[in-house]
Amino acid sequence: MTNRILCCLLLWLALAPAASRAAFVNGHSYIPVSDWAQANGLKLAWLRRGEQLAVANHNLRAIFVVDSADAQINGVAVRLCFPVASAHGSPLVSQLDADKTLRPFLYPPRPAAGHKINTICLDPGHGGRDTGNRVGAHNEKTYTLALAQELRDQLLQAGFHVFLTRNDDSYVELPLRPALANQRGADLFVSLHFNATQSGMNDVSGPETYCITPVGASSSNAQGEGSGYGPTPANHNELKSLILAAQTQKSLVKNLGATDRGVRRARFAVLRDALMPAILIEGGYMTHPLEGPRIFDAGYRRLMAKAILQGILAYQKTLQSPALAPDHHLKHSLHPSNTPTFQ
Ligand SMILES: [Zn+2]
Repeated sequence: MTNRILCCLLLWLALAPAASRAAFVNGHSYIPVSDWAQANGLKLAWLRRGEQLAVANHNLRAIFVVDSADAQINGVAVRLCFPVASAHGSPLVSQLDADKTLRPFLYPPRPAAGHKINTICLDPGHGGRDTGNRVGAHNEKTYTLALAQELRDQLLQAGFHVFLTRNDDSYVELPLRPALANQRGADLFVSLHFNATQSGMNDVSGPETYCITPVGASSSNAQGEGSGYGPTPANHNELKSLILAAQTQKSLVKNLGATDRGVRRARFAVLRDALMPAILIEGGYMTHPLEGPRIFDAGYRRLMAKAILQGILAYQKTLQSPALAPDHHLKHSLHPSNTPTFQ
């Protein structure tokens, strides 16, 4: 055996254990959380051994539950693409979540050079013959428009340009809504809805914020709207949309004192074709005995609009934080004063 072959063999032996630690769970590629945490400068600790664990550094704190897709990332509930798994006591996270759910929080995506958020398209859900959810005499379409108008006024005051996909009680086809945002060169697309449930009306409350589902993952909305798996135009901005969704959801929960039903992924028709970061907010449950009357109240919607505005501003700040290259991360984390913070 020549020295060269011996070197190659030794190198292969050195690398092989790391490669072999990747696993397939239900046909999906998974990696050990410990490897991922180490590679990204995060500390790992069990909160309940074998059940719940945390990974953290200066700009990310995530809590995972084994066998569950429900995670907490920087203080907001986030539904993972696939449940956290475990093998021989070692927790595993899907490669898709490592790349598409966790990475954007560690290394926030950058806007194109000089690109700022100028114009925001607000999309009041439903309208005209499409009432949306109906609870007693209350139609969802009425409150989505009222919230959009309140949010428009607050965004204008904050210096943004704003337009709505409908300004009155008119019916607008779903594909026309993102098309309008695309035509008018909007920098963000925010669709506004309110939720309803037939079962557990007394128990189910709180906002949910949706962004596009990554290719290869299933949508987390129970209705299964848009269950196709192929890439959509919205997938080009999926990482930014996730950060926008997380900042908005966090602000809604904090400012409204609401239950956190989390950031979720869905291939909603109004999200699929947007060429800019796009989210869909379900502002709460019209069917809940306490939250319903709040949604029907202008004062509460004003608070909700303010929370969404603050979420958008926090998103803008996150993307403008100093660039942080992955290979500089470990060095960087030694200097907490330089680290971008997640609001
Ligand atoms: Zn709706």
